[in-house]
Amino acid sequence: MDVRIENAAGVRWVRLRPTTGIDELLDLDGALGTARLVDGLLCDGPGFLAGRGQVDRLALWEFDLVVAAIYRELFGEQIECSAPCESCGEGIGIAFSLDDLVTEQHHLDADDAEILECIDGPDDGGVITLRPDIRFRLPTVGDVTEATRSRDPGGVLLRRCVLDDAGAYAEAVDRAMALLGPRLATELDDTPCPTCGYVQQVSFDLESFTRRAIERERSLVVREVHLLARTYHWSRAEILEMPRVQRQWHVGLILGEAAARRAHA
Ligand SMILES: [Zn+2]
Repeated sequence: MDVRIENAAGVRWVRLRPTTGIDELLDLDGALGTARLVDGLLCDGPGFLAGRGQVDRLALWEFDLVVAAIYRELFGEQIECSAPCESCGEGIGIAFSLDDLVTEQHHLDADDAEILECIDGPDDGGVITLRPDIRFRLPTVGDVTEATRSRDPGGVLLRRCVLDDAGAYAEAVDRAMALLGPRLATELDDTPCPTCGYVQQVSFDLESFTRRAIERERSLVVREVHLLARTYHWSRAEILEMPRVQRQWHVGLILGEAAARRAHA
């Protein structure tokens, strides 16, 4: 699967191999846990932004678009999440499409265009200049991994990514970073609770949402392995190495046959 990575600076690509059961059962704990999954799915090839084992190179916004592509492959286009109401504790259900999230987070308005006009780059090393002379680069998965190992993650990230003293322009650099590298995370304002009517802000972050969705499906993967092993006598390793799509085709066949047998019984 080829993933289009596009922002105000242009279009690049990465290629992902199909997801297998081994990927679905990976331990995804920790900050940016899905990075481990992405790392193994990336394919080498000329012109790709990052190849196998090179997830650290991806800027966070690029990484988010790859995670979005994986979410789409595994679960489809629709996002359905829920958050507890701060007032009554009941769940607030929220649904939107992944496409809408990407479009909204990547949308530029007139003020944004003004800031973009003051930007040169990125150059081949990913360095961007906010004119006249503040150089920065967009934080990568590698930067975040490094930062989370330190006692001052925010400070480490800043020192790694802002190469000149931003001084009075710190806010402008922040804004430029957000424009060139929009994350797929958002605050859903004014979300009303259907039970008590209380209105609150709900946070959504695609990376952790995808991680939880994969973790929730693990018991299903194990059940599918059990079913295929019992029916075809394939080994657990063979089944887990199959692309997820193929595994699910076989499971569909077995369940279809069982349903037909029940209907005739
Ligand atoms: Zn409520």
